[in-house]
Amino acid sequence: MKRKNKKSQSKFYHKKFHKSSTTLHGGSEHSLNAMDEKESKMYLVSSGPERNRKTLIGCILFILILLIIASSIGFVIFSKFLDQRVITLKSSKSTSSSHSNSVGSSITNLTISSSTAESPWLITKAENYLPILMYHNVQPNTPDGNFVSPENFESVLQALQSSEIYTVSSDEASKVLSTNTKPAQKLIWLTFDDGTQNFYDYVFPLLKKYNMHATSFIITNNVVNNVPGFMTAAEIKEIASTGLVDFQSHTVNHADLSVASDNRQTAELRDSKAYLDSLLNQKTHVICYPSGSHNPNTSVIASGLGYDLGLLDPGRTYDGLTAKNVAAKTSDGLFTLNRYRTFTNTTGKVVIDMISADEAYNVLNTLN
Ligand SMILES: [Zn+2]
Repeated sequence: MKRKNKKSQSKFYHKKFHKSSTTLHGGSEHSLNAMDEKESKMYLVSSGPERNRKTLIGCILFILILLIIASSIGFVIFSKFLDQRVITLKSSKSTSSSHSNSVGSSITNLTISSSTAESPWLITKAENYLPILMYHNVQPNTPDGNFVSPENFESVLQALQSSEIYTVSSDEASKVLSTNTKPAQKLIWLTFDDGTQNFYDYVFPLLKKYNMHATSFIITNNVVNNVPGFMTAAEIKEIASTGLVDFQSHTVNHADLSVASDNRQTAELRDSKAYLDSLLNQKTHVICYPSGSHNPNTSVIASGLGYDLGLLDPGRTYDGLTAKNVAAKTSDGLFTLNRYRTFTNTTGKVVIDMISADEAYNVLNTLN
């Protein structure tokens, strides 16, 4: 309607102007001045709405530009917010060196990145549960409860694979237990005590087959002295070079830390760490207490030497504390972490059933 009015006004103006030109040639000066006045009035009549329209369009354009700028700023801020919720996980299986770096115990030490990683880390509402399986020996003709057949161990890896459960490294375990972050997948930490030869013979080939990670706890004097039945330094280095296994401390002599003096504890923890740090060019940070043995000073000494996690032996009692057969969690104390004991008959189905409540808790605990 407005557009139509404008068009007719314009036509009218054109007609009048034409008429005034005719008058100029044949009419009086008075009539010319009169026409000028008329034209001028006419111009004013037509230019008022024109100017208003231009002002209105200008205002609309200005508001549109403001809206575009505001929404762009909003999008950038929202993107930054999302980025902070996605913390990249450097794949534990890519390089051996990925396990050589120690993990900060504070969330501020984490690298926050927006790049899309294979395994994004998510923020969680409260502490995470980390199921830790405790193994000793995997080999055929299993003589007692501490021995698991390679078939049963493989059934566990198959079950973890089909249930899409991620096997964390010790570095990742530290992050999961000391921050409210976790990899997006369900989690488990496979741990092997004592560094026996059958780890190299049976466990390592299966970890390679399924591309899964485990941690082996080494009694360092057995390596130094080439004690038969235990892995050699060359074997440990070979395994570590794949990035599938990281090696942590089980003390120098499999010492009973619960009765050892502070000096003896310090030597066991310090020297085993120094050996592994040097052999594997890493910062050893997990102590698995031999038979779960520890006393009130153990965690203080370990922490002072650079350890950040201490693992118990389920069912054993030390320092008035009986280690439970449950998942590890921060509130239990980072130097008194529980583990699930495995037995000769621990198959994949047994493991999945055992940790199902922990995984359900973690799913509800994740902020999505
Ligand atoms: Zn042991």
